[in-house]
Amino acid sequence: MSAKIIDGKEIALSIHQEVRTEAEQLRTQGITPGLATVLVGDDPASRSYVKAKRKACEEDGIQSFHYPLPAETSQADLLTLIAELGADPKVHGILVQLPLPSHIQENAVIQAIPPHKDVDGFHPENLGRLGIKGEEALFAPCTPAGVLELLKRAEVQVSGARAVVLGRSKIVGLPAALLLLRNDATVTVCHSRTKDLPAVTREADILIAAIGRANFVNGEMVKPGAAVIDVGVNRVEDASRKRGYRLVGDCDFEEVSQVAGCLTPVPGGVGPMTIAMLMKNTVRAARAQASN
Ligand code: NAP
Repeated sequence: MSAKIIDGKEIALSIHQEVRTEAEQLRTQGITPGLATVLVGDDPASRSYVKAKRKACEEDGIQSFHYPLPAETSQADLLTLIAELGADPKVHGILVQLPLPSHIQENAVIQAIPPHKDVDGFHPENLGRLGIKGEEALFAPCTPAGVLELLKRAEVQVSGARAVVLGRSKIVGLPAALLLLRNDATVTVCHSRTKDLPAVTREADILIAAIGRANFVNGEMVKPGAAVIDVGVNRVEDASRKRGYRLVGDCDFEEVSQVAGCLTPVPGGVGPMTIAMLMKNTVRAARAQASN
């Protein structure tokens, strides 16, 4: 079997287009959606993530407010800034780029973001709502929200499916599991202590790989015809590349594509969806705050 490849780039482009249309509609009502990005320190990867998010804002018609802060910023000063942004009506979404320097407690910062502006979806109130049937979820974390959107747009049946999530982080694995459950899948979450992982993953109609181990999932771990979403982004040495490495996912693409029914590539699968879903969360926040 040769898997259908789910094109995350193309799906992300259509989401950006939908966001642009929604931002335009909001502007006709006098509302310009606004996203504040807070970057503490000078980590090059974080800097480039924030740059990409601000560029997407510009392209999608979202006003971007950027707060680059020195690495030695105190937790108290950061909390003061978040309180100011929380009270600013022009700011509909607040994104604090993680990780933060070690002297700052990440949880305290996330919990200081008002849940209705928490467009990253990491506030415990928003994560908790995801897990409670019947509760409206304000925002889902962007990467797992992108995973569900990929499944939806690839017309994968989630309701009633057996779903296995590899990984239980608060950024990807756990919220992905909650979202799948919310969409009526029967969900198993695996982690580093799971015994006989291949026996579990082979049960999956939907397999989400989010562990950060290059090419970990091989063909024998996948049920024939399964939908496989590869969230992992891992560097492997590659002397043929100018930069000396290439990016691969958590799945062995060659093997898994022979077994799965559909599969996301790395790069070009989940990656582009994360920023698209952040933009979507921001216009959603603007619309909700305008109507309140
Ligand atoms: P993380 O915080 O390091 O969590 C990894 C999870 O995988 C943990 O739950 C860990 O189990 C589990 N795990 C590790 N090795 C395992 C093994 N051998 N067998 C079973 N489970 C194992 O990572 P993360 O932040 O969730 O990210 C996961 C991957 O997604 C990374 O490659 C990251 O770069 C990528 N990612 C991509 C995007 C995107 O936009 N495409 C966004 C975020 C992350 P324990 O809990 O037991 O330690």
